[in-house]
Parts: sequence; C-alpha cells; structure tokens
Amino acid sequence: MYYSKLFGKTNKSVPHDADSANARLLVQGGFINQLMSGVYTYLPLGLRVLKNVQQIVREEMNAIDGQEILMPALHPKENYIKTDRWEAMDDILFKLTGAGDKELALSSTGEEIVTPLVKQLVTSYKDFPVAVYQIQDKFRNEPRAKSGLLRGREFSMKDLYSFHLTEEDFDAYYDRSKEAYSKIFQRCGLDAKLVEADGGIFSKYSHEYQVFTESGEDLVFHCSCGFAQNKEIAEVKEGDACPNCKDGKISVDKAIEVGNIFPLKTKFTTAFNFKLQGKDGKMTEIIMGCYGIGPSRVMGSIVEVHHDENGIKWPESVAPFKVHIVPVKWADEVQQKLAVEIYGKLEEAGIEVLMDDRDKGPGEKFKDADLLGMPYRVTVGRGAADGVVELRPRATGEIEELSVDDLLKKLV
Ligand SMILES: [Zn+2]
Repeated sequence: MYYSKLFGKTNKSVPHDADSANARLLVQGGFINQLMSGVYTYLPLGLRVLKNVQQIVREEMNAIDGQEILMPALHPKENYIKTDRWEAMDDILFKLTGAGDKELALSSTGEEIVTPLVKQLVTSYKDFPVAVYQIQDKFRNEPRAKSGLLRGREFSMKDLYSFHLTEEDFDAYYDRSKEAYSKIFQRCGLDAKLVEADGGIFSKYSHEYQVFTESGEDLVFHCSCGFAQNKEIAEVKEGDACPNCKDGKISVDKAIEVGNIFPLKTKFTTAFNFKLQGKDGKMTEIIMGCYGIGPSRVMGSIVEVHHDENGIKWPESVAPFKVHIVPVKWADEVQQKLAVEIYGKLEEAGIEVLMDDRDKGPGEKFKDADLLGMPYRVTVGRGAADGVVELRPRATGEIEELSVDDLLKKLV
C-alpha cells in the first residue's frame, strides 16, 4: 500500500476526550475515527489490526471444536422475558420499538438467541457436546463510554457457547477453553493473567483474563505464585499473606479485562426448557458455558501495553503492515527505484508493506512511522546508490545497515 493512496492519514490534533493512550494514538495514527462517545469507524489501518485479532481468536476457537455462526444483532423481547433479563439488563440493554410496536433489543450478549437455536437443531444426545461461536458487534448502553476502544457502546465481541450432557464434560471443555484463551492473548502480545471473579448466582467462580496496565479500570489482587482475584470478590487485601502459596504477599494493580469465561450451569437451558433423553433413557438437563473476548478491546489493550511517547509498537502478529519503507527523498530517482524494488520483492514473498511515497522531509516521515508503529522500518537514503539500506525494528529502535539481499533474508 502506498501511503499517499491510503484512506485516513496521521493527524496532529489530540482528540479532546482522549483519556488513554489507545484513544489518542489510534485516532492520531488514522486507525479509527470517532463518530460519538464510545462509537468508532475503523479506517483501513485499524480494520487490518482488528481483523488480525479476530483471525487469531477464530483460529483458536476452531481449534477447540467451536463452529462459527452469525446470529442477528436484533433480538425480540420475548426471549428475554423467558430468562427474566428484560428488566434485569435494563441498565445496559439498548431497547427499541419496531413496526407494529414490537419491542426489540440490540445484542449485548447471545444466550437468549443461542439457547433456543441449539435446542431446535440438536435433538439427540449423540450430538453433544456442542460449541458454537460468533464474532459480531455488540451494544451496551454504556453511561461511561471512555478510554477509546476499552469501553465502547458498540464493540466487536467473540462469544462462544458450549452445551454438555454432564458436569465432567463441561469441566473438561472449560479447561480447554482456558488453554485456548492463553494462546490467543500470547499470540496477540498480551500477558493476560487468569483471575478468579464472581460467578454470580450460578457458581462460585467465573474467570477473567486481565492485562495489567495503568489505564485499567479493574483492581486485581495477586501473588507471584499465580493466585489472582478480582477486587469485586477478593477474599484478601493488599499486604495479606497469600492464601495459595502462604509465602508471598498480596499486591494490588490496575488491569483491563480482555476476556471472560463463565459456567452458566442450567440457568438458560432451564429457561428454554432444553433437556433431552440421555443414553440411559432418562431426561437430562443441558449444562452450558459461555466464553467471551472483545477483539476491539484486545486491540485497545495492545496499544496500552505496546507504546512509547512517540507512538504504537504493534506486535508482528496483529500489525497492519509488517514493514514500513521510508525513502528519505522520494523525488530522488535512485532512492525511489530501490524502494520500489524492495517493496515488490517483499510483496512477492507475501509480506505486507506500507510505502511512504510522500514528498515530505525525513523528520516528518520518521515521526509518522513511529506513530503508526509497524514492526520494521526500512529507510532508503544515501546508501541507496550502493544498494545499502537501514533496518530499524520499532520495538528496539536499533538501526542496522544492510544490503538488500541481507534485508530480504531478515524479513522474509
Ligand atoms: Zn502466592
């Protein structure tokens, strides 16, 4: 992609309500554009990142036998009456009235839709367990939309639901989902901690994945042994001896919740009278779990963790482009020719490249390259006549002079 052709450019103005690094850097870099509080358009650069995150999530959900579906975002009230959540979710549910005074809600979760769907389509015990998921925009009537992509009113969500005949089968799947979640965050460059959280009325605990960062809104009590509880349920306080390892002391830190997994037991299957005849001929209640990750929130969290005062430092796995070529002087024929040659060879090798083809000074181009945060900057300058370029990884900032052949060996 040639930068001059890219829809959405870097801009210097800081959004007035940018209260976090991701809100500021993603808008300034031209990744996203704010429509209103908590609602954003993804511009080409931002959409590339979001899709990369979604693809990682998709691959790991497929790996634990999840099958992708896409449910509607427009839900009928009746389904929420069955689960007693029409009033209970009043504070977050966007409710609207359609033609014929039909009362509707915009999707903020999927249990009310997926439970009757699975009940309708899965009618034999032989077909269990069942795991289906979707990656869909969700809506929350959020009174405090803030922090860019961290707390939005419309956001990307992956929600998986699993259905089981026995507790043992559910427990085994729940453990598999934990492993899948760890892999997802690792692949996205996030060090996410598994934290015990309130299980609501269904079970003692659910689990959250929390990334420690100053811009986080949650407080997590934790110990170096791995023990971690969300403040909402914490049975410990700061400085306490750790109840798990007995040696460590409990610390408290701010964190962002990037995912959660939740045993739902039979709460929703009972509401929809979803049971069937088991192998032994007896009627069996179906046990259910739900597993959420917000790809847009993951994207925001990646920026919170991977940035410096100059801009973003995308991990390679989610970066919109792996390489950013900066010819010092685009009008210089030798530099332009070499830059175009490298661009072509990298693209041929399947590497995605952004080329800064603007007639701007190197200072401005370098600044933009740091703000945009592609993992590798290739500078084509004076050495171009001898076929020498500079490679600068964004993460380290250490510049290395290389011949084109050696550059290609490093990057391909
Ligand atoms: Zn401990």
